[in-house]
Amino acid sequence: MKPITVAIDGPAGAGKSSVAKAVSQRMGIDYLDTGAMYRAMGLYMLINAVPIADEAAVAEYCGQARIGVTYDGGVQHTWLGDADVSQAIRTEQCSSAASGVSKVPQVREILVEAQRRIAAGHGVVMDGRDIGTRVLPDAAVKIFLTASPQVRARRRCDEMAAKGQAADYDTILRDIQARDYQDTHRAASPLKKAEDAVEVDTSEMSLEEVIAAICRLVEAVV
Ligand code: C5P
Repeated sequence: MKPITVAIDGPAGAGKSSVAKAVSQRMGIDYLDTGAMYRAMGLYMLINAVPIADEAAVAEYCGQARIGVTYDGGVQHTWLGDADVSQAIRTEQCSSAASGVSKVPQVREILVEAQRRIAAGHGVVMDGRDIGTRVLPDAAVKIFLTASPQVRARRRCDEMAAKGQAADYDTILRDIQARDYQDTHRAASPLKKAEDAVEVDTSEMSLEEVIAAICRLVEAVV
């Protein structure tokens, strides 16, 4: 049987990683969070004091970052050199650095190549911005996961409140709209729906409904 590849793209906060993780577990396929690799690249630039707004400097140094991914009991660990940076990359600072470095074509070339190597020869559920359009154009199932900016901001607020963190809806909504703009307007691989992707608008759906809908699409091609 040909290994099954599932591409899940969409804007920040649409629930891609929760959905992709659950689908990978239910279908018994590995999961690759490609955003973690852009975050690790962002962290490399921060650690080495490379100014992220300086595209030429980022392009010059990105080849030196040793970014790797391993799995432990199905959980992805992201490495920078010999350090497991899986937790360190989850800060707002790394998120913004990731968004900055992801505009640089040389960064994308290196990471896309690494992502294709990880997928080669076995099944994978990958989430990101350019999986269906660029990384895995032949993926068996392509999903474009969306939700209105207002719904995404509300979900993010609720998540933060559940963790006891202060959350301001208007600030979060503005951040989401700014990230959407950056991700869809950059010259290198902007976020856009692949022509053959199925768009799933999750605004009115529960997480469980989204997971079930995607598993049905995957089962239909197995
Ligand atoms: O998905 P996550 O929020 O962790 O991604 C961090 C940033 O990395 C995104 O804002 C986006 O700019 C970039 N990214 C990308 N291509 C991907 C995955 C993430 O450009 N495949």
